[in-house]
Amino acid sequence: MRRHRNAKILATVGPASDSDDTLRAMFAAGADVFRLNFSHGTHEEHARRYAIIRGLEKESGRPIGIMQDLQGPKLRIGRLEAGKVRLERGDVYRFDLDPAPGDRTRAPLPHPEIFACLEPGATILIDDGRMRLTAQEVKNDSAVFEVETGGELSDRKGVNVPGTVMPLSPLTEKDRRDLAFGMELGVDWVALSFVQRPEDLAEARRLIDGRAALMAKIEKPAALARLEELVELSDAIMVARGDLGVEIPPEEVPGRQKEIIYACRWAGKPVVVATQMLDSMVNSPAPTRAEASDVATAIYDGADAVMLSAETAAGHYVVESVAMMDRIISKTERDVSYRPIIEALHPPPEPTAPDAISAAAAQVAQTISAAAIVTYTSSGSTALRAARERPTAPLLTLTSRLSTARRLAVLWGAQCVHTADISSFPEMVEKASRIAVDNGFAQPGSKLAITAGVPFGTPGATNVLRIAWVGN
Ligand code: PGA
Ligand code: MN
Repeated sequence: MRRHRNAKILATVGPASDSDDTLRAMFAAGADVFRLNFSHGTHEEHARRYAIIRGLEKESGRPIGIMQDLQGPKLRIGRLEAGKVRLERGDVYRFDLDPAPGDRTRAPLPHPEIFACLEPGATILIDDGRMRLTAQEVKNDSAVFEVETGGELSDRKGVNVPGTVMPLSPLTEKDRRDLAFGMELGVDWVALSFVQRPEDLAEARRLIDGRAALMAKIEKPAALARLEELVELSDAIMVARGDLGVEIPPEEVPGRQKEIIYACRWAGKPVVVATQMLDSMVNSPAPTRAEASDVATAIYDGADAVMLSAETAAGHYVVESVAMMDRIISKTERDVSYRPIIEALHPPPEPTAPDAISAAAAQVAQTISAAAIVTYTSSGSTALRAARERPTAPLLTLTSRLSTARRLAVLWGAQCVHTADISSFPEMVEKASRIAVDNGFAQPGSKLAITAGVPFGTPGATNVLRIAWVGN
């Protein structure tokens, strides 16, 4: 089953998408990667959803990526006696380490590291930035704030402390338990939340131990400051605009989004644009035109994938959201201005054999109007380099490793088929032709640009480009 677009769709699974039928419909509508959000749900729920998705993969024969998104050190207030309390501008309010439920004067904030780092005059944000408070007096175990922007404070609301680098590991105790569970399940990607420094990735890498690929979520100003290193050290990047957009002003988000996408395209690492893309579809069967335009912007920028969060996890129009995203991507990629805009950034090939071959394949495929570029890849690294070219011809990637096929579900343009290794030139052409025809990329008489590594079966050795005609 091939898709007729390059950019991929990540869809978050949640209560609204918790059935075999819904997940099947989401996949049919275009979901390429499913995100299990470990900020919510039990292990049993995630395991059940995981099993359904693997079942769909088996049924369809198309590799599906499954991502485990770890909650990370999300800061939250504790509970309130009445469940909520209204704060008005000018009110004075205290947060402290006392676990007793909060009231009109104070509430628990069970994070000593905040009190340790906070300076008087610093701002904290609550409930995705809806409420804003300024610290007046800070002690080791409490701080008194003046309310700048009021609102309703309620149980367990999220807290952001922008502009303060806190000594927080991105892996909490819960994350470690969840990660061990994800490894048992066999997830393909692990997304790490609230990464601040390159060192933050090391511990996750060690625990994952090659069993999954690692995606760093950029949602802290501190991470933006070390962007290049984070791109280098991770397998993919997420522009996590939900928290990022709370920690930096809204007007800075579009520019930083472009900066992150360009850094990833330059490095040849997949980049996912996430959060609020079709947010109004949580409650409405059609998106706002501004949302459609937001998705299109990510596509014009050349992002590898766009993500749905609440739209598919908790919305009323789950399948419609996936279908809408599919339509916006497809339409945008066919727009006359798509190629010129995407070509505006064309990173030059690095002086390596795989880059030389990938750039040549893209060029050759365009010159001879090849029906597809067929790339034999083992670890997936050649597929990354081929996609980095953002070629005009479809990119059919063949791999003998199922783990590679599943990871590549996030990659721009990659349509992956899991198949046995090849051992000769005739077999290389014969298999590429057969799979290209079977999957609707080519027909007898079509031309293919095929890349592979010789000697066959040596990972990372791409050094051959072959033009082939599909026989009868
Ligand atoms: P989240 O991450 O949905 O886990 O918060 C994405 C974001 O912050 O945008
Ligand atoms: Mn987030």
